[in-house]
Amino acid sequence: MQAEKKNENEENDDIKAAIKQSKESEKQNTEEKKTGEEKKFKCTTCKDAFFDTNLEFKAHFKTDWHNFNLKRKMEVMNKR
Ligand SMILES: [Zn+2]
Repeated sequence: MQAEKKNENEENDDIKAAIKQSKESEKQNTEEKKTGEEKKFKCTTCKDAFFDTNLEFKAHFKTDWHNFNLKRKMEVMNKR
């Protein structure tokens, strides 16, 4: 009986270790993904304007959205 119990515990430990390992690798993957999702470029004129690449960032300056925000920003600055 005792020996059987011991074997069960060992099995559980193996399962626990396997679960822990898979969870750790999952966590690692999530962290890597999170880092990859972080935007490197940010437009200071527009809120919530984040970009992965320099090309996207440059293209953003030509958009109506950015020009509209830039115009508004300038108007606010001129008022002060
Ligand atoms: Zn912008």
